[in-house]
Amino acid sequence: YFDEIYNEKNMDRIKIFKGDITKIEVDAIVNAANTSLLGGGGVDGAIHRAGGIKILEGCKKIIAEQGGCEVGEAVVTTAGQLPAKFVIHTVGPIWYGGNDDEKVKLKNCYTNSLLRAKEFNCKSIAFPNISTGIYCFPKDLAAKISVETIKNHLKEDTEIEVILVCYDDENYQILKKEMEN
Ligand code: ADP
Repeated sequence: YFDEIYNEKNMDRIKIFKGDITKIEVDAIVNAANTSLLGGGGVDGAIHRAGGIKILEGCKKIIAEQGGCEVGEAVVTTAGQLPAKFVIHTVGPIWYGGNDDEKVKLKNCYTNSLLRAKEFNCKSIAFPNISTGIYCFPKDLAAKISVETIKNHLKEDTEIEVILVCYDDENYQILKKEMEN
């Protein structure tokens, strides 16, 4: 399924994959969760289904401790049965037309997830295209924000490898173009 890979020469620690994030063998995969952390549709549903009950148990523990997860924040659980070690749950912003700090909130998702990954000693992390599904964030703008934020972070974090996982072809084409810039 991962027959298409794009890897730009001067950015060899950011890669793009087309496929299903639950299949990727990295230290951490990021979940586009919601504030309840109780699971939902899209990539969230896929991660909970493939990873099993241990992920939900981890989420419930976090709910008991802090009530859930705010937009732009990120929390960490086990990855259960997935090949990854951890799931980093971050809550992307719902797109309300651009006047609700959506851009900053999305940037925070990437930054906070990368910071959590570092805290947990992860050397590799895979992101979905946060907010570009049910939350309706414009895909081209989301792609710009994700690549820019990750590139900036890689200047500070000289070890981690980042995979941007595109499930739909539209995001894959957009990200590929964005990486060429
Ligand atoms: P959000 O609520 O943040 O928009 P969604 O799950 O609806 O979250 O969509 C976010 C992105 O995740 C979309 O681009 C969607 O195509 C993608 N996606 C859905 N399922 C998977 C999966 N199994 N692996 C990777 N990405 C996925």
